[in-house]
Amino acid sequence: MIEIHHEVAGFRARLDRARASGARVGLVPTMGALHDGHLSLVAEAKARARFVAATIFVNPTQFGPGEDLARYPRDLDRDVALLARVGCDAVLAPPVEQIYPPGERTRVSVGELGDTLCGPHRPGHFEGVATVVTKLFAIAGEHTAVFGRKDYQQLAIIRRLAIDLLLPVTVVGAPTVRDPDGLAMSSRNAYLSPEDRCRALSLSAGLRAAHALFVAGERRASALREAAAGPVRRAATSVDYVDVAEPDTLRVHDDDAVVGARALIAIAARVGATRLIDNVVAGEEGSP
Ligand code: AMP
Repeated sequence: MIEIHHEVAGFRARLDRARASGARVGLVPTMGALHDGHLSLVAEAKARARFVAATIFVNPTQFGPGEDLARYPRDLDRDVALLARVGCDAVLAPPVEQIYPPGERTRVSVGELGDTLCGPHRPGHFEGVATVVTKLFAIAGEHTAVFGRKDYQQLAIIRRLAIDLLLPVTVVGAPTVRDPDGLAMSSRNAYLSPEDRCRALSLSAGLRAAHALFVAGERRASALREAAAGPVRRAATSVDYVDVAEPDTLRVHDDDAVVGARALIAIAARVGATRLIDNVVAGEEGSP
């Protein structure tokens, strides 16, 4: 039976007990509205840890003004049923005051990993992410945390913060789960009309085109970028960026650069009112 916790103290005590009984703890932080991408993270955690917990918390500090905090999809009963089905042992679904106590002031700043790609388009977003993830890591104690590569920049920032803040957490990245037609699963896909969903396929189509060029030997950043951007420019309502970047530092390559053995190709675009992101690391992963 999955245990549901709404209070940090009880959840923390439960994970302490699991560790005391000799179990490794796995943690899967989410904002709920779960799909198969999230459930794949639970499976990955179960492969690495005997006691697996998920968190469901729509973190207000990572939403900018005018973003979708108020209308973000929420359905706790459905989410808990899905987590139970894949063998998750416990879930923390706390009210906001449990995570941001009255009078709270502290934020975790992320440095230059937050300055590229999505950073300039979502001021404060990664500081909000880093702050909530640090809190969740502090609650969970020593554990293995699993995050999706779909949010590649977020994963890079979280890997860095676990090292920099000396947290007893092993951070694991798991592959992006896609619908059969290539669309990266996302809770925000629920906002897409059928027509928008078709247009949203341009992101994975662009990544596939760029990836195919890379596999064929193309190493000019400009050519990879143009291959990825073409379908997105034609179909998206607006494009935040299509960038080719160095996968570890996230530094964006200039158009005259030649990429190395691996290249991060990342896209953020709006389809209708919905902001979507997707990426592939060419030289490391299969085609999107
Ligand atoms: P979210 O609920 O959107 O904050 O995402 C929670 C976790 O699920 C993050 O680590 C995401 O990277 C991961 N995630 C979201 N979508 C996918 C996907 N399609 N495949 C794999 N992981 C995902």
